[in-house]
Amino acid sequence: MDNNTIADNFSILSKLMDIHGDNNFKAKSYAAAAFTIEKLTIQLSEMPFDKIQSVRGIGASIGKNVIEQIQTGSFSILQEYIQKTPEGILTMMQIKGIGPKKIATIWKELEIETIGELLYACEENRLSNYKGFGEKSQQNIKEAISFYLGSQGSYLYQEIENFTIHLQDNLEKKFSDFRFSIAGSFALHNEIISELCFITTTPIPILEDFFTLQGFEIKLFTDNNLQVVNSLKLPIHFIKTTDDLFYNCVFEHSCSDTFLNAWKEQTNWNDSKSFSSDKAIFESNNIPFIPVYQRENASIIQDAIQKKLKPVIQVNDIKSIIHSHSNWSDGAEPLENMASTAKEKGYEYLVISDHSQSAFYANGLRVERIVSQHQQIDELNKKLHPFRIFKSIESDILNDGGLDYSDDVLESFDIVIASIHSNLKMTEEKAMMRLINAIENPFTSILGHMTGRLLLSRNGYPVDHKRIIDACVANNVVIELNAHPRRLDIDWRWIKEAIDKGVLISINPDAHSIQGFDDCKYGVLVAQKAGLTKYQNLSSYSLADFEEFLMEQHQKRN
Ligand SMILES: [Zn+2]
Ligand SMILES: [Zn+2]
Repeated sequence: MDNNTIADNFSILSKLMDIHGDNNFKAKSYAAAAFTIEKLTIQLSEMPFDKIQSVRGIGASIGKNVIEQIQTGSFSILQEYIQKTPEGILTMMQIKGIGPKKIATIWKELEIETIGELLYACEENRLSNYKGFGEKSQQNIKEAISFYLGSQGSYLYQEIENFTIHLQDNLEKKFSDFRFSIAGSFALHNEIISELCFITTTPIPILEDFFTLQGFEIKLFTDNNLQVVNSLKLPIHFIKTTDDLFYNCVFEHSCSDTFLNAWKEQTNWNDSKSFSSDKAIFESNNIPFIPVYQRENASIIQDAIQKKLKPVIQVNDIKSIIHSHSNWSDGAEPLENMASTAKEKGYEYLVISDHSQSAFYANGLRVERIVSQHQQIDELNKKLHPFRIFKSIESDILNDGGLDYSDDVLESFDIVIASIHSNLKMTEEKAMMRLINAIENPFTSILGHMTGRLLLSRNGYPVDHKRIIDACVANNVVIELNAHPRRLDIDWRWIKEAIDKGVLISINPDAHSIQGFDDCKYGVLVAQKAGLTKYQNLSSYSLADFEEFLMEQHQKRN
């Protein structure tokens, strides 16, 4: 073991002790030892053991630790600390710009244990409220984490959307004699993208030259396949086909395997037949058109044949911003800006649902502040008429499944969204107890981000989707499709079951800024996969229809 490794071990130990808030004096002495050992010109492992303790700055106790490391190759106190520290916290230590003090706050006060959760907290402005974190440090942390996560090669759809569109644009311009089509998971609107796939008629050597010149790494290079990796570490795959077989090839690479197998069984699929368009493939088989993003399950083919496919929701079918946060809690903007911008953008109403009192980390609203916020809303509503702001709250679902205020306070809201934000580590039994209690509460109208998942960052707590859907039917509760590209929760794979049973979905941006309004789009993209129509989506309701919906909901309260 060389000096650098020994010094690193002391340095990590000292940081871990700081993070755990243990014995300041010892932590300092380990940090000093790291500093001393790093500077030594002689290797400790080459010294006789009895000399080590007399090296200046080392002494008896540190000396013992050094000898242990040289003899055994490991350092038991450090191992103990590593074992009692969550993996995500250890990962945080590798991220530039977050020292032990900050990590301690993040872990102990914000109860964040993974870097994905931390990134999400930055996006929700949670950090800038804390001592030692300004807006600047929040921004730096956000960038450092994005970079770190990016190096793992998987991305949220939204993170690589612009890159993908520009790449296709550039290729089409540069090689205008040839054709390109995006295929694969991007064409399917999948929430996570681990590879981009293009079908092209461009000869592979031409593309290979182009990407080599651009500094892309070439991973695979055959007659009909090229795989390159860009600086984002995202694999990009090109499949070469002929002009004749172009649509055929795009079709085969723009659906799930399940869909393709079912298609082959139910039609006379011929790999070498030429089609003039994607639509022509369906026409020639006498099957109504199925949009690319719906080519997931085998059953969609029969649904199409039986003419059950309805026009799916579009981004401009979203008429309102339901679920948003202002700077009354952890949002970035004053309420008046949120409202006037929503009005300018053509939305008919805004449901402002700041955090409730238990969400101290998000500056949740105590009762006095709710009263003041409601006064402000009344005044703004006079000014912005016919646009309307609805009084809402994103109430924490407490540990026992209760909502976060007494009934008379809950009564003062037009609409209550109930979400779990704390104690996320729980069994399915516990999660279901909390969720079902909240759904059965007569004040609950919308169940927020059902599983608490953060894509690529944190699994949700385990839930029984079927039981939740049934409870929402029984209690006339709307299920949110949280449209934040890192949430997209309820998972689109459960939406069909929900709407078939008669549950309303609500595509909600959970906007923490004006920019956040635009996240509705990512909710729509996945909702389209599930076949959601605008009639099945609450945030597509006109103002008048929404008011009527609220009257029905309020009948539950008596
Ligand atoms: Zn929430
Ligand atoms: Zn929220």
